[in-house]
Amino acid sequence: MTAKYLFTPVTPSLPIRGSDVRYPVTRIFCVGRNYHAHAIEMGRPVDKANARPFYFNKAASTLVESGATVAYPPGTENYQYEMELVVAIGKPGFRIKEAEALDYIYGYATGLDMTRRDLQLLYRDQGRPWDLGKDFEESAVCGDIVPAAPLGMLSTGNIELAVNGETKQKADLGQLIWNIPELLADLSQYYHLQPGDLIFTGTPEGVGPVKPGDRITGSVAGVGDIVLDIAPAA
Ligand code: MN
Repeated sequence: MTAKYLFTPVTPSLPIRGSDVRYPVTRIFCVGRNYHAHAIEMGRPVDKANARPFYFNKAASTLVESGATVAYPPGTENYQYEMELVVAIGKPGFRIKEAEALDYIYGYATGLDMTRRDLQLLYRDQGRPWDLGKDFEESAVCGDIVPAAPLGMLSTGNIELAVNGETKQKADLGQLIWNIPELLADLSQYYHLQPGDLIFTGTPEGVGPVKPGDRITGSVAGVGDIVLDIAPAA
């Protein structure tokens, strides 16, 4: 018997390039401080020899597709962009071996980890969860999913972002502190990864604020472009 629901559930999803089938999204993991220069600009340098990656989550309901216009969010005076490579998981994986990580990747996407920086840092510095700074409506922006098959494991390639045409972030995926195989191996120690899981792999240096009327554009070599317009607070 088909379940009846009190209201119609929404399935967050992304287009798959070259397909009319969409990729349903169930979880969004984000990696913190995964480029040295960004960790330093946040005042928290990383010594890989003595550190593990760390993660936070955004609800799947925060997902927005590239090309959208989003309202300047409530509760912040410092709304910032973070350009990221996103990995989309394609099959269940637990305790994934680095050498086999590619088998678990369905595809890649461009992503923006939009952040209420003032709230993130306020709660970070109080030792409290920073969800209000990260996990808010329309904060996970993604381009279409590009199947991994022709690309293989992405280990290098330009990643960049501009605001109103002015370049703000420019780096190379080779500068990731923990690369994609290392991230999948580590995260899958703690979670049974599943199709529908997105992993935002972290942002390079150059993060900064946007205001209503701004247009954010970004790209990851081989993966594609992303665009987001900022509207006045709703
Ligand atoms: Mn981020």
